[in-house]
Amino acid sequence: SAINIKEIFEALELNEVNKGTWTGVDAIDLKGEWLISHSPVDGQEIGKVQMTSRESYEKVITKAEKAFKTWRKVPAPQRGEVIRQIGNELRKKKEALGRLVSYEMGKSYQEGLGEVQEMIDICDFAVGLSRQLYGLTMHSERPAHRMYEQWHPLGLVGIISAFNFPVAVWAWNTMIAWTCGNVCVWKPSEKTPLTSLACQQLAANIFKTNGYPEGICSLLTGDAIVGSYLTQDPRIALVSATGSIGMGKAVGEAVGGRLGKVLLELGGNNAMIISDQADLEIAIRGALFGAVGTAGQRCTSTRRLIIRENIYEEVKERLATAYQKLTIGNPLDEKNHIGPLIDQSAVNQYLRAIERVKAEGGHEVVPGEVLQGAGYESGCYVKPCIYEVENHFQIVQHETFAPILYLIKYTELDEAISLQNAVPQGLSSAIMTLNMREMETFLSVQGSDCGIANVNIGTSGAEIGGAFGGEKETGGGRESGSDAWKAYMRRQTNTINYSSELPLAQGIKFDI
Ligand code: NAD
Repeated sequence: SAINIKEIFEALELNEVNKGTWTGVDAIDLKGEWLISHSPVDGQEIGKVQMTSRESYEKVITKAEKAFKTWRKVPAPQRGEVIRQIGNELRKKKEALGRLVSYEMGKSYQEGLGEVQEMIDICDFAVGLSRQLYGLTMHSERPAHRMYEQWHPLGLVGIISAFNFPVAVWAWNTMIAWTCGNVCVWKPSEKTPLTSLACQQLAANIFKTNGYPEGICSLLTGDAIVGSYLTQDPRIALVSATGSIGMGKAVGEAVGGRLGKVLLELGGNNAMIISDQADLEIAIRGALFGAVGTAGQRCTSTRRLIIRENIYEEVKERLATAYQKLTIGNPLDEKNHIGPLIDQSAVNQYLRAIERVKAEGGHEVVPGEVLQGAGYESGCYVKPCIYEVENHFQIVQHETFAPILYLIKYTELDEAISLQNAVPQGLSSAIMTLNMREMETFLSVQGSDCGIANVNIGTSGAEIGGAFGGEKETGGGRESGSDAWKAYMRRQTNTINYSSELPLAQGIKFDI
């Protein structure tokens, strides 16, 4: 579990990082303030980079605009070929990048590797997609006319991402956006700058090796202020933003105000319904990973369990027993189940949420606590906890990005579905049941109102093949698989007349 950061930096070509200004591929003159990355694992400084200044931002965008003029003309399957090479490079660097993700963000090494695998998967998906950017053809009502639609790239795509999936979300967006012919400008989380530099270095290198100009792949380092350069800039055709609901509202307002396009992937408040017809073994395991995996810092983490009353006590006891067996500590040590929260402010939010749930009348099942002592020096390690609550509690209506699980009782399935839907967010949901009627009702129009609805698996752990995203305050965006690529393109309807007449649509006569 010991980390050799020098070795990782070497493997990821990040040697320049600690020398000051970033001089890697697609080098930009950053000039801004220093951004220091501390690991939540041991509190150590990992490295530092300068933030993108307003002046450097202009240079990045000018370069990106120029690069778009070249990239959009490259046939899509040839763009796919570049993505294939990026996927291969990721395969080679999987371990080093997975380790850096784990060390900088705090998720387990296994999950760090999983995140890089997700990037590889989306590369493969995008390569196939590069030959499948299909438009429809329609029958024209006019004789000797042909009508069809085609899809063109949007131009500059701005990507703002969260700390908890510091590299996968970039890949979900860029691999699809590049395949579609866009150029990408990425503003990653200020909490995970080094993993983003590693991705930038890797991808920019491939573009360079293939002889493409700088600016197809750009990185902005910095905080919300740097993010707002993108949201306020009419040259950015689409802003794809992943993060909290508060951020999404600010981004939506800024981009909406200039009638730009947004793709929002915001917070969740995900519930699992456990029916008395469930396979309880699977239900407990699914609930456990959903609630404590990534220390509860997934947008799809299970926050609420809605349990049928006749099995409620049994589920509660089995969960409490399972929680006792969890090991918390250095996430690079594979015997630990749970690593740290991202920083001190996340720990404070966890503590405040526990206070509030108690104040609102919640009943403690497994208590929470900040861990201290050897191995916990960063102050970011907390104990996953469980509370019995009412769904309407204010704190339960809110996403706390920490391992706090709420238990809620139900009698009838309709009631369980209403409770599951009665929150402002609508990302992921699950039902545990072997009963076909219950399952189909949950998936039907009167069932879950979320973007993701699962049966007999937990709320987290989506695959890249499906469209990912959620409804209501989760923002309505869809990323990744299925036809999510359409969000990165503009549709053009074309009608071609190959007759010697000029008939008007709807039979309108206009003769002179
Ligand atoms: P955050 O909202 O604090 O920050 C996310 C990103 O937005 C960062 O890069 C930040 O610098 C930027 N930002 C913040 N305010 C901005 C503004 N006004 N203008 C432009 N940029 C701005 O989120 P976080 O703490 O990094 O991540 C956790 C949140 O992200 C949780 O709510 C989680 O549910 C959500 N999330 C959602 C998904 C999804 O796909 N739905 C995936 C991962 C995380």
